[in-house]
Amino acid sequence: MPQAKVHIIGAGLAGLAAALRLADGSRRVALHEAAPQAGGRCRSYFDSALNMVIDNGNHLLLSGNRATLAFLREIGAEDQLEGPPHAEFCFVDLASDERWVLRPNDGPIPWWVLRPRRRVPGTRVADYLGVLGLLRAPKGAPIKAAMPCNGPLYQRLWRPFFLAALNTAPEEGAASLAARILRETLAKGGKACRPLIAANGLSEAFATPALRRLTAKGVEVAFERRLSALEFKDQRVNALGFGDERIEVAAGDCVILAVPAAVAASLLPGLSTPQAYRAIVNAHFKVAPPPHCPPILGVIHGTIEWLFAFPDRLSVTISAADRLIDLPREQLAAKIWSDVAQAIQIARPLPAWQIIKEKRATFAATAENEALRPQTQTEFANLLLAGDWTATGLPATIEGAIRSGFIAADTVVRGA
Ligand SMILES: Cc1cc2nc3c(=O)[nH]c(=O)nc-3n(C[C@H](O)[C@H](O)[C@H](O)COP(=O)(O)OP(=O)(O)OC[C@H]3O[C@@H](n4cnc5c(N)ncnc54)[C@H](O)[C@@H]3O)c2cc1C
Repeated sequence: MPQAKVHIIGAGLAGLAAALRLADGSRRVALHEAAPQAGGRCRSYFDSALNMVIDNGNHLLLSGNRATLAFLREIGAEDQLEGPPHAEFCFVDLASDERWVLRPNDGPIPWWVLRPRRRVPGTRVADYLGVLGLLRAPKGAPIKAAMPCNGPLYQRLWRPFFLAALNTAPEEGAASLAARILRETLAKGGKACRPLIAANGLSEAFATPALRRLTAKGVEVAFERRLSALEFKDQRVNALGFGDERIEVAAGDCVILAVPAAVAASLLPGLSTPQAYRAIVNAHFKVAPPPHCPPILGVIHGTIEWLFAFPDRLSVTISAADRLIDLPREQLAAKIWSDVAQAIQIARPLPAWQIIKEKRATFAATAENEALRPQTQTEFANLLLAGDWTATGLPATIEGAIRSGFIAADTVVRGA
């Protein structure tokens, strides 16, 4: 009797995480990826305009992202994420030119809010209680119904924090998703919200070491292999179509569909998936950061939101950036560079640049979309779903994607 096989479709982080968890020798695992590389929306590439390897988008993680850290430990790449030893976030307000460093203390009792030099300037201790409304919000409530969405604390802390985590204007974001982020990071103390970035690039941190580990464990990995059809019989998937090629899915075999929501919906008509998306714009400038530039800088009252300093470039992230998508690239680059120059106090003409617009970067983290996210198991006994858009309770993040892959793998192991 041959060993049962699990076919995983999509080698983004969800698919890689599922494969990693299943690659313990008790099953055969095959990973089928449409693109020529792994990593999906979280990858590096060689950019010919800048003549350097850059990421498709800057990805910010927090030390409370426990599934992500477990994934990295498992593939031997934990050291690829870099960040300060204690939580600290440098900010600048472009409207007032004020600069400050937010420094939550390590433990769960948030005494940092009592210290004016650790908290947000212009805020009072009592202001910080407002966010607790998120933790009591009823299902389906938007953030704006659960906590105050105005004033200096909102503008200078909660708005940038939730905008980055949800990729959705926080006013319209789902309170449940914001609450989950809060519970898993800041509410646990500074030790769970140290900012982390993949200093040597996303592919070096995630895809490359994951593929190395999977190959060593005997996982079959095929690139440029796009699933074009699923065939069903007796409430099971019984074949996979890859263009002209058809692969039988034998009794006992499973399929984990770890593709983006729109692809899953096209392969599985009737599947409920999030319907609205939000864009992310990233800008990369080929210039060494000045010595005084912090590795990560939050920018308030600018077009830009987060500025990342790498040894050979400055990179900018703008979330929920739909308003910028149709702007001409040259105009956008100049506008962004003017914010960068003000934020880090340099006077320099526009250096070589690249703008990456991801129009459908993530689903919009609204309560309406949250209600449409499907569970791991489907109506078909041997078909499971994974991906940042499935019902993880988290917004579309690396952590959500990896957790969805782990959940799908665990469901297979339990005998879905
Ligand atoms: C610009 C940008 C910035 C971001 N910033 C952050 C951040 O700061 N922090 C954070 O935590 N998250 C961030 N994210 C979100 C994060 O990248 C995603 O949540 C995560 O990568 C999603 O992984 P996934 O495996 O669910 O999906 P995907 O990465 O979309 O992977 C799906 C895979 O399926 C493959 N595929 C598609 N169709 C088929 C088919 N028919 N057959 C076979 N394979 C197929 C695709 O090629 C892809 O490799 C950002 C995303 C973007 C785009």
